[in-house]
Amino acid sequence: MYYNNKFRRNRPSIRNNESNRRFSRPVNGNRSPHGGQRRSQLEGADINIFIKKANPVVLTESIANIRFEDFNISEILKQNILKHGYSKPTQVQSQAIKPILEGRDVIGLASTGTGKTAAFLIPLIDKIFKDRSQKVLIIAPTRELAIQINEELRSFSYGMGIYSALVIGGANMNRQVQDIRRGSNIVISTPGRLKDLIKRREINLLNFSNIVLDEVDLMVDIGFIADVKYFISQMPKIRQSLFFSATIPPKVQSILQSFVTNPVTISVKFQETSENVDQDVIKILSSEKKVDQLHDLLVKDGFDKVLIFGRTKHGIEKLNKELEFRGFKTGALHGNKNQGQRRRVLESFKQNQIQILLATDVASRGLDIDNVTHVINYDLPQTYEDYIHRIGRTGRAGKMGTALTFVG
Ligand code: AMP
Repeated sequence: MYYNNKFRRNRPSIRNNESNRRFSRPVNGNRSPHGGQRRSQLEGADINIFIKKANPVVLTESIANIRFEDFNISEILKQNILKHGYSKPTQVQSQAIKPILEGRDVIGLASTGTGKTAAFLIPLIDKIFKDRSQKVLIIAPTRELAIQINEELRSFSYGMGIYSALVIGGANMNRQVQDIRRGSNIVISTPGRLKDLIKRREINLLNFSNIVLDEVDLMVDIGFIADVKYFISQMPKIRQSLFFSATIPPKVQSILQSFVTNPVTISVKFQETSENVDQDVIKILSSEKKVDQLHDLLVKDGFDKVLIFGRTKHGIEKLNKELEFRGFKTGALHGNKNQGQRRRVLESFKQNQIQILLATDVASRGLDIDNVTHVINYDLPQTYEDYIHRIGRTGRAGKMGTALTFVG
């Protein structure tokens, strides 16, 4: 096994010298060797959509001059926020925390990377701390996102006697049932497992007077729209409802209307344009050389923490094995991995034990990993929206990132 700089690649370098040029001819190719998959809607698109110089903005700076000290929240929570490393609220936090504290329903048009998680967690933790009878249900589209929300929650609520149940698929259900029965104040769930537990009468949504729907557009994309509508039908009529979504396409709108009452709407749009990400393309020289072109990129300086996207589980698995064989430290994240494997690979990427994480779209949306230096679209994403989600994994929290897309 070769590690670090001892890479198993003897072929001459075929680095793509053209990668910095702007192409105006259409994208074609990107044919998956695995067949049978839906073709990307972006095949044939003008490749200029993948080329853009970063226009850095400091994402975590709030535009208003609000400080955490200014919020009417408990002292211990303020201390925990500081200990967590947040000195100043982000824009979505500056705008959302106050109306949530006042009990208003909120629609947050904000994607991951804007600080939306703390925007709803901070006021809800405060609400529970001041009234122990309050129960909060958070519904998130993916297990990884739910785990991240739980981790952030534990850090913010440290020493406050607030407990959570993480109700997600792929993990032991008995433990989750025990956590719910123990009377956790906060349940963080993904739709599939939540539905199972409602059907088994282990969880009754009527007990929750605070509900957060997170990343609703992704939930709808994955196909959970009917489940979300079912959950809403099971909720108490009088409740505080918080709704977060990067975009509001018509299907999301249909959920929104039945969910919130007299809401305050907050829009933090700038993250969607990924202003902190340098975007460029890599011209595929031939399908046989594509993996060598990738190899040549990965050994360059600065490619320290690289997220590579592929379209199929099979394709990701194959590429993972190939890169491992070539001596790279890699891991793969896709729907065929069980929860333990997904958690382990994510952790080793977060801890910089592996240099490269290979992932499919659904497995990775919403991931919050610090300091990803590069996102590489080895296969084209299905839609431009997927593209924006993918490249949003880098250039986060005010840092710079690079996104490179292989085009035919
Ligand atoms: P989110 O949009 O909730 O996924 O958060 C995106 C990233 O921003 C995470 O890495 C957070 O830890 C970070 N973040 C959120 N709020 C703040 C803040 N007020 N100051 C610094 N970093 C923050």
